[in-house]
Amino acid sequence: MIYETQPTASHYVDGAYLEDTDGTPIPVIYAATGARIATVHAATPAVIDRALTAAARAQSDWARLSGRERGRVLIRAAQILRERNREMSVLETFDTGKPLQETLVADAASAADALEYFGGLAGSLTGEHIPLGGDWAYTMREPLGVCVGIGAWNYPTQIAAWKAAPALACGNAMVFKPSEVTPLCALKLAEILTEAGAPAGLFNVVQGAGEAGQALISDPRVAKVSLTGSVPTGRKVYAAAAADMKHVTMELGGKSPLLIFEDADLENAVGGAILANFYSSGQICSNGTRVFVQKSVKQAFLARLTERLKGVVMGDPLDEATNFGPMVSEAQMRIVEGYIAKGVEEGARLVTGGKRAARDGFFLAPTVFADVTDGMTIAREEIFGPVMAVLDFEDEDEAVARANATEFGLAAGVFTRDISRAHRVIGALKAGTCFINSYNDAPVEMPFGGVGMSGVGRENAKAAIEHYSQLKSVYVRMGDVEAPY
Ligand code: NAD
Repeated sequence: MIYETQPTASHYVDGAYLEDTDGTPIPVIYAATGARIATVHAATPAVIDRALTAAARAQSDWARLSGRERGRVLIRAAQILRERNREMSVLETFDTGKPLQETLVADAASAADALEYFGGLAGSLTGEHIPLGGDWAYTMREPLGVCVGIGAWNYPTQIAAWKAAPALACGNAMVFKPSEVTPLCALKLAEILTEAGAPAGLFNVVQGAGEAGQALISDPRVAKVSLTGSVPTGRKVYAAAAADMKHVTMELGGKSPLLIFEDADLENAVGGAILANFYSSGQICSNGTRVFVQKSVKQAFLARLTERLKGVVMGDPLDEATNFGPMVSEAQMRIVEGYIAKGVEEGARLVTGGKRAARDGFFLAPTVFADVTDGMTIAREEIFGPVMAVLDFEDEDEAVARANATEFGLAAGVFTRDISRAHRVIGALKAGTCFINSYNDAPVEMPFGGVGMSGVGRENAKAAIEHYSQLKSVYVRMGDVEAPY
């Protein structure tokens, strides 16, 4: 046991913890030490059925409440999350290995923002009145029904809340399956929602890997699937959902460009590149991992970047002085090491990092490659680790064309002091989520999501409402019906 408030069983179904040891055991490994800190069990078909049955029952009652009544529960859950921020942050650190310095400000806090925001919106989810001469029509915004959420391992609390908050605000119920790598945090969110007054069955958590995910998606009781994960998984989930015309939201991977022009404030640009590559040890989908730097400032950029990376404090994630944690798992560390070896082999210049730290756990040093060219593997594939590829460019048109030469389109950023260029470049970049003189800000008020292979749909903001509700149109005739016979 990590500490006394950790989740007490594998699943959370129908308002309570639930264990079923017939499911395959899944070890929970603390990334900072490699030690097993808990074991959960994958959901058996019986657990999945119980969760879906409970969700379907809870949904029909929940949808009958007024939006304001639903919103009140979400806002109360946000308050509890904030009160327990430290406890939730410690659990997030155990689940992912991310340093407490990060989790204290980025995870439960972001989840609370989402619950508060969608809780506030819940009372204003209205349709419209459409005058048609004497007749008229109106629309009603209705819930979809039972939604399934499937999470990645990098932000287990945030991902669960970014899906649950708009889903519940719109009158849906949810069965959430966390990543098998980080199964703990979503359970606490479920517990808190119950405490806040959510009816039993409204938000359920079941564990397991792809098999559990597939079982959920293919169930006819499910109306929608929202996945946060990789492109290959996205393809499978989208295909399975298509069989029954289920709604989908796909938050997938990226290989996003960050363009740094010679007129940029160098200090801010270096800071932006650090945030775009090394926060959460680089395990962020929207990271700007292709850093295009205008040739005239390349040396200065690399010199200042190397200097600032001396401020990295790698160590015990529970020590609040630590600002750089381990990779989430040994498997992920090996994948990233493979990419680093490829970078060297294909002729990129290793400026710093490239090695494991001499300590237990899955620590890889922040790594910067310079002289990277577009065809190199490290410039084309998502690495999902602390590896920055610096590419040079001469002029704007070239930088934009090369930035767009990717199948992904999650995010993009530009650093420049030229206001016209900033907007022109962002206008030309193919990406769903963009930043000017900044990187990776993700307030709940701003839609988040990708184009191309990076995904379908948007999370956060009012845009998410579109993805968790559907319109019913009603034509109202005021006069007699004129039929031909
Ligand atoms: P993954 O695709 O391996 O797994 C994601 C989730 O899908 C897990 O819960 C997994 O168990 C489940 N899954 C796997 N196969 C499945 C199947 N056949 N059917 C149903 N579910 C299945 O991704 P990961 O390694 O957990 O996370 C890293 C990836 O997630 C990266 O590509 C990253 O870019 C992406 N990501 C995207 C966002 C975003 O918002 N766009 C955020 C975080 C992570």
